[in-house]
Amino acid sequence: MKALKVLSALGLLVATATAETHRYESDISKLRNIVIHSIYSHKDVFLRELLSNSADALQKLRITNLREGHGLEGWQGNITIEARKNEGGKGGQLVIRDTGIGMTKDELATNLGTIAKSGTSEFLHRAVGDSASGGSSGTNEGSDLIGQFGLGFYSSYLVSPRVKVISLPAPSPSNPEPEQWIFESTASGDEFSVYPDPRGKTLKFEGGGPCGTEILLDLSEDGENDWVLETDRLKGLVEKHSQFASSFPIYLRVPT
Ligand code: ADP
Ligand code: MG
Repeated sequence: MKALKVLSALGLLVATATAETHRYESDISKLRNIVIHSIYSHKDVFLRELLSNSADALQKLRITNLREGHGLEGWQGNITIEARKNEGGKGGQLVIRDTGIGMTKDELATNLGTIAKSGTSEFLHRAVGDSASGGSSGTNEGSDLIGQFGLGFYSSYLVSPRVKVISLPAPSPSNPEPEQWIFESTASGDEFSVYPDPRGKTLKFEGGGPCGTEILLDLSEDGENDWVLETDRLKGLVEKHSQFASSFPIYLRVPT
């Protein structure tokens, strides 16, 4: 018992020692705030964005597998959406998991913590114009801008105050034994952290496959966004946005 405790304490220490906290660049902070607070009135676009990211990751794995061979015999690219309600209370978690290419530690930090695409200032200009032009925030223009400028991931914060991304990347010649890493950030903070998963490689992929990504959207305990966990609502949303998942199957897991 004691030994176990020491071990888990050591595990935590290891995780803490290698955890990296990064401050968002100031432009990114501004952009995140615009995405979260001004652009969308249709919060459900978060699902469209996350489905299309998962579909992109699945396509990437399919293509790199042809070139590099990831041992995908029997692999079935798919996306699972799981609703977890807090028992007897408000809040819970929505989980979106794919069996796609996954992200390394560096990719988590770069892809989710910075914006590589050019045109950031143009985006800021148009987005601020959009929300400042009086009542037009939340228009299609706003939601189109998100996709166009590669800000889709930040729309997670429309429904979730705290987002965790757990990823196990595809093995590659330079990274033959990949590890599972976590990206974590809150809607209100100015920072994100990236750290190795203290539990090790825990991700299990439906339909096989060596890699993938799980996005955990914590819902606030006041129940404001619990609608995303309602079975009928979720089914409707998945149908509405399923075209963004290309032809990959989407599994829905809801409380019975
Ligand atoms: P965009 O999709 O336009 O590039 P996003 O903000 O939606 O912008 O996503 C940023 C990047 O994060 C993606 O380009 C991709 O590299 C990475 N990413 C996001 N979600 C996933 C995922 N589920 N699997 C692998 N990579 C992902
Ligand atoms: Mg995207």
